Amino acid sequence: MRTDLLAVLSASIILFCCAQQKSESRWCDDLPREAYQKLQKTAFSNDWFEVYEVQDSIYAIYEPFQWQEMISYLIIGEDFALLFDSGNGIGDIKSVVTKITELPIRVLNSHSHYDHVGGNADFDFIYGMDTDFTRGRMKGLPHERVAEEVSDAALCKGLPVGVKAEDHHIRPYDITQLMKDGDTINLGNRILEIISIPGHTPDAIALLDRESGLLWTGDSYYAGPIWLFAPETDWNAYKNSVERVSALVPLLKYLLPAHNTPLEDPAHLTALANAVNRVDRGESKPTRRNDENLIFEFGHFSLLLGPQVLEK
Ligand SMILES: [Zn+2]
Repeated sequence: MRTDLLAVLSASIILFCCAQQKSESRWCDDLPREAYQKLQKTAFSNDWFEVYEVQDSIYAIYEPFQWQEMISYLIIGEDFALLFDSGNGIGDIKSVVTKITELPIRVLNSHSHYDHVGGNADFDFIYGMDTDFTRGRMKGLPHERVAEEVSDAALCKGLPVGVKAEDHHIRPYDITQLMKDGDTINLGNRILEIISIPGHTPDAIALLDRESGLLWTGDSYYAGPIWLFAPETDWNAYKNSVERVSALVPLLKYLLPAHNTPLEDPAHLTALANAVNRVDRGESKPTRRNDENLIFEFGHFSLLLGPQVLEK
């Protein structure tokens, strides 16, 4: 989970209370993001997903019309392809990835929040971290828990053809193979290393392609407000995890985050580590939002913490 939801909430409040003032700004008014101007949209795109080949045999599958602006990645190897996250489960991601490759497809989630596991049920091989949080999320979520994700406020245009808002829920799925920190996935010509980075959730991971200098960061880093206020978020664990992955920066060419923009400069990870330390030492002054969460602004990204998080 992520992003500009608070901006959305503020915008809805403005819309609700001050409609006559024509403050009808919406979360998607500023889209497309500048980063996409440099990227070529592929013919695999459809009415819900925009698909970009961001590196050789690596596709970013972006959901620009829903406020999570989720990005799943298809990483194609010689023997099989890995789908890193499966999106919100609103559009049919399987029909997209099976057009891109005929190879078998395995799924790995950056963590088990609903916006990352929505398409899992459509695949028959899923890697999962060996944590209670991961196992707990396998049962899916009922409509009530994700209804807001298909509300008018969440959507920049209509739902995909044939999809009804009232039917949306997160379908249950099974984990095929349990994984742990340091395990590798060999696609044939590309080796991916799992780095356990608990914090955002207990099962958060980064995925490292050491040879190509690529690091998928999930929701532990992206350009935007990073959500660190959920009950399952652990600030101290997040702090340690950010420090751990920021040590990889000298090896890296790009970060590939799970929301908003698909290719980011690794220097942002160093900036994140500095920002987290400043917040932790009480050196950064937050703004308190309407919902009591605290936002610490650092320009390219911000940290959105629950009011109690630093007291834990
Ligand atoms: Zn997310």
